[in-house]
Amino acid sequence: KNLYPMLRLFTQAHQNPSKTAIIDSYGTYSYQDLSFKSDQVAFHLLSGKTDLLQTRVAFMVSPGIDYAAIQWGIWKAGGIAVPLCITYPLPSLSYVIEDTQAEFVIAGPEYEAILRDYAIGKNLRWLTLAELKQPISEKLLPDFSTDRGAMILYTSGTTSLPKGVLTTHANIESQVSTLIDAWEWSAEDYTLCLLPLHHVHGIINVLSCALWAGATVHFLHPFDARQVFEIFLQGKVNVFMAVPTIYFKLISEFESRSELEKVQLHESMKRFRLMVSGSAALPVSVMESWQKISGHYLLERYGMTEIGMAISNPYDGQRRAGYIGKPLPGVSARLVDEQNQEVAAGQPGEIQIKGASVFKEYWGKPEATAKTFTEDGWFKTGDIAVIEDSYFRILGRDSVDIIKSGGYKISALEIEEILRKHPMIKDCAVVGMPEEEWGELVVAGIIPFGEIDTKALNHWMREQMPAYKTPRKYLILEELPRNAMGKVVKNDLKKLFA
Ligand code: ATP
Ligand code: MG
Repeated sequence: KNLYPMLRLFTQAHQNPSKTAIIDSYGTYSYQDLSFKSDQVAFHLLSGKTDLLQTRVAFMVSPGIDYAAIQWGIWKAGGIAVPLCITYPLPSLSYVIEDTQAEFVIAGPEYEAILRDYAIGKNLRWLTLAELKQPISEKLLPDFSTDRGAMILYTSGTTSLPKGVLTTHANIESQVSTLIDAWEWSAEDYTLCLLPLHHVHGIINVLSCALWAGATVHFLHPFDARQVFEIFLQGKVNVFMAVPTIYFKLISEFESRSELEKVQLHESMKRFRLMVSGSAALPVSVMESWQKISGHYLLERYGMTEIGMAISNPYDGQRRAGYIGKPLPGVSARLVDEQNQEVAAGQPGEIQIKGASVFKEYWGKPEATAKTFTEDGWFKTGDIAVIEDSYFRILGRDSVDIIKSGGYKISALEIEEILRKHPMIKDCAVVGMPEEEWGELVVAGIIPFGEIDTKALNHWMREQMPAYKTPRKYLILEELPRNAMGKVVKNDLKKLFA
């Protein structure tokens, strides 16, 4: 059989069949189990056909063995995997199902009630997990080519409606093998996965890298900070990846523990090989607190649904707080101005990316795809950064984080970093509000630790930075509007100011 790149993990099943691939809330599964289960899924999907020929298969399944078996089963059968967010309501699910023109809908038992009537009403092929587990006779699996589409993932929807990003098997192979080399994944690794699997962070950086390397993935779902620490104390986890909001929650859980428990937790985490943060900017204060708690400098990296991981702090070497690092091997990155010309050293510019990991197209959106590449094939990320001592520092998204006020371009992220240094500020987010005289005015949503005097805060801010950068207005909030990846949805924050 053709050993298709993304199926290469199943060589693990031959070489090391009894090695544990996945642990979830139902049990422990070996590589052989995973291989068998994904074959079963593929045979069911193929029923009567020899190749799914890029048919889209949408599935709503909790993180765990069934999720992995379905993902790889779709690939084995020649289909395109469309993982659905398990917390979405029906309108968001049907948007994805219709946008991808999925022909199959698979639901885990918890999600059958949400999707059944819709899927049957639309004449889609409706499959439950119970049906997929029925015994079925073996079928011949199709041959593949690496330029075939593998997966459609939707962007997080931080700036506008989520876009479907089609990646090929070659793209995924490149994304995975780059990280395996850069972060030294091996079969010795054991990772705890708390992340949703419909975004690259979970599906590529954690699940795909681990399975490709022959490592073990332990799923915890739903997130529970107490249980995370219980698993850490078992002493098996050595690789951990999460988003800044998760580290934030783990820090407060840690602070609530007794001195003895703190020592035990610190000891258990000190033995880890690697701890990573990404998906949104990691506040310097979180990096510093986490270093004290765990003994680890978090490795911060930068990536997107469209490009996988592109820029990363080093595995060996200095991990700089507030920086995303340097381009990963095989990835070309440059900073350009509005005319796509490279900026002078030390100047801010848009990050543009080239490399084998860059996606093929926005599904069904040829115009959006064409607009997002330069004529000579660079992908325009829309993120603004500067390079300082050869490390990239993110200033934010051109559309929502770069505030254009009185002829200045102001980075919301820089102001947030300073606000967080104030002892009364627990969390914050800065945006620009349209205004006639200045174009945009800097305003801040803040979550204080208690009663806060915003006049005094404003005075303090003016001592920290030039007046034109300081927020003109503070809005006291109980929480910030965030999406499933824990990213602040700044357009929603703007609505609160309006
Ligand atoms: P949408 O494209 O729908 O607006 P999104 O861009 O948030 O949503 P993703 O592809 O999940 O969707 O996220 C990629 C974005 O996340 C990047 O463009 C960047 O703005 C942000 N990001 C990722 N890693 C980091 C990081 N380490 N620091 C700052 N921002 C980051
Ligand atoms: Mg985006």
